[in-house]
This record gives sequence, C-alpha cells and structure tokens, in this order.
Amino acid sequence: LKMQAVSPSTVVDTAVKLLCYRLQSYNVKATIHRNSELPAINADPDQFKEVLVNLVVNACEAMTGGGAIDIHERVLGSPPNRQLAEISITDDGPGIPPAAVKKVFDPFYTTKEEGTGLGLSIVARIIREHGGHVDLTSVEGRGTTFSIVLPIIGGNL
Ligand code: ADP
Ligand code: MG
Repeated sequence: LKMQAVSPSTVVDTAVKLLCYRLQSYNVKATIHRNSELPAINADPDQFKEVLVNLVVNACEAMTGGGAIDIHERVLGSPPNRQLAEISITDDGPGIPPAAVKKVFDPFYTTKEEGTGLGLSIVARIIREHGGHVDLTSVEGRGTTFSIVLPIIGGNL
C-alpha cells in the first residue's frame, strides 16, 4: 500500500469521472452530495479509487434499465471522539434479499452470469487494510446503500 494523505472527496470525483461513460451507457445518473471537502484520510489513493469504482459499477449493474446513484459524504463523530469520513453509495435498484446480504462479501459469490464475485471481497479487504469498515443496508425493491467509513487524519485530537 502506498499510504499518503488524500482527500476522499478528490478520489470520489476521480472515480465518478473515470466512470462517466459507463454511467451514461447504463442510463444511470450519479449525484455527489458534498457540503465541503472531507478532511484528509491516510490511504492508498489507487486502492481507495478501486473501492469506489467497484461499488459504483455494482450499483450500475444492479439497476437494469437505469436509475440513480447518490453518493453522500459525511464526517461522523465530533471531538474529542475519533472522527471518521463516511462515503455512502445508494442506488435505487432491486436491493439484496436478506439471505444474500450475509454472502455478498464472500469471495466468488455472484448472481451475475459473467460475474467473478470478487469485487466486494476486494472492497472489504482494502477498507480493512485502511483501518475502516464497510456497512450494507438494503431494502428489496427499494435499493441498496454501501457505506465506507475511514479514520480522518488527526481526527482524534
Ligand atoms: P460481481 O459483481 O462479480 O457479481 P461482487 O463481489 O462485486 O461480484 O458482488 C457480489 C454480488 O453482490 C453481486 O453478484 C450481486 O448479487 C450483489 N450486489 C452487489 N452490489 C449490489 C447492489 N448495489 N445491488 C444489488 N445487488 C448487489
Ligand atoms: Mg462487482
């Protein structure tokens, strides 16, 4: 890992730009909800970008016929508690059945004809290596939210 101080907001922008043609071809509109740029985190920018790309591509692939992706950036916690940067990715796709929610992070679990089932296991590993965690909430027929939470540099001062 090439760890350095990175702005999560900048990486979000880079990932969305990288995927702009794919978003168009899936007829998906992605909206970034940002109040102000998130404070820096200690991360490998390429690995962090890979996480976001995986989550956005999964959202696109879930929404047959197009849809919307909302990316929310938030700071969680306030001094003197540890502060965390949260980036959540919400789609309005079909959702994930409760029985499958437990399995989606397993390597090789896929419901796609040509899926590898490796994307989310890689996401989980990268976020774990960064000292953060991934949460998943999903409502069948309504959509899915993946949120990644990572410690902010100096956020516990
Ligand atoms: P792959 O994309 O190759 O199938 P992943 O590990 O990225 O592998 O995802 C595993 C499975 O989790 C997918 O096949 C799909 O069933 C489910 N999944 C992931 N993201 C979403 C989502 N946003 N909406 C619905 N299902 C999802
Ligand atoms: Mg995938």
